[in-house]
Amino acid sequence: MTSVRQLAHTAELWARHRDLLESQAPSGLTDISDELLTVKGDLALAMSSPCRLCARNCRVDRLSGERGYCGVGWPGFVGEEHIHFGELDDVIPTHSVFFSGCTMHCIYCRKMALVQDPEHGVPFDPAELALTVEDRRLQGARTLKLLGGTPEPQLAAVFEMLRSLPTRLPLVWETTLYVPREVVNLLVGVVDVLVCNVRYAEEACAQRYSDAPGYPAIARKALEALAGRIRVSLRHLVLPGHIECCTAGVARMMQETFPDEPLMLLTQYAPFGDAIGDPVLGRSLTADEAQQALAVARANKELVELWPMD
Ligand code: SF4
Repeated sequence: MTSVRQLAHTAELWARHRDLLESQAPSGLTDISDELLTVKGDLALAMSSPCRLCARNCRVDRLSGERGYCGVGWPGFVGEEHIHFGELDDVIPTHSVFFSGCTMHCIYCRKMALVQDPEHGVPFDPAELALTVEDRRLQGARTLKLLGGTPEPQLAAVFEMLRSLPTRLPLVWETTLYVPREVVNLLVGVVDVLVCNVRYAEEACAQRYSDAPGYPAIARKALEALAGRIRVSLRHLVLPGHIECCTAGVARMMQETFPDEPLMLLTQYAPFGDAIGDPVLGRSLTADEAQQALAVARANKELVELWPMD
């Protein structure tokens, strides 16, 4: 159980975090002070026990080995890592690190092996991963990209890894935004580019395909909390049969929160995992549907592009 003294200490840390963030306004990992990075790490550690690192709010004691919905232990596993080029021009080549486990269980996930087995890969050792990141930098990586699954369950150990880096490089973080406001605040100032993969605008769709109750409202609140505070790359995977509900709604959500940022539509959907055989998601998106999605998104948001670029 959290003691009164711990609560008071955490409140002091949040106050210090707010002051440093406001006075220093760092743009990302190459710009953040050691002190602010340490405060973020301490806060992430406090949020790991009881765990509130995503919207599930499991409140399990991750530090003593308890596991919540995501199944991620302490500190977790790295499922795979490599240099890759499928990102924004000013980000590539990037060193992509995929953490195992996820806070959402999308039936069509392409990384099902990582998501279903939170111990897929190798144990996450922050000091060791920092050395791997340095090796990849020396091999040509210009940026570090953290994703999964989703990297939020590993947030505290990630801050420890970032503090151990021999050389800092810009940080890209990919998320579904199924996170509370506190996690948004911890990402601001250390992440250089936040890739926001917003999945659904309808509650029923989020529950049916990702077992993610409350997702549309939670993602919207996160976008509102991010607006004007961080560089984002807005993305949405178009799902067959969900253009009028989710693509239209996500585009509207992004117009209202980030009117000057383009929305990248991902139109390469093909069924994977448990989506194979699903009556709606068990087929690929057609070229006609991709064009329809583009038109619907553009009717709701001023700036929309296809990804990869058309
Ligand atoms: S990160 Fe995992 S354990 Fe923590 S609240 Fe989210 S699902 Fe639960």
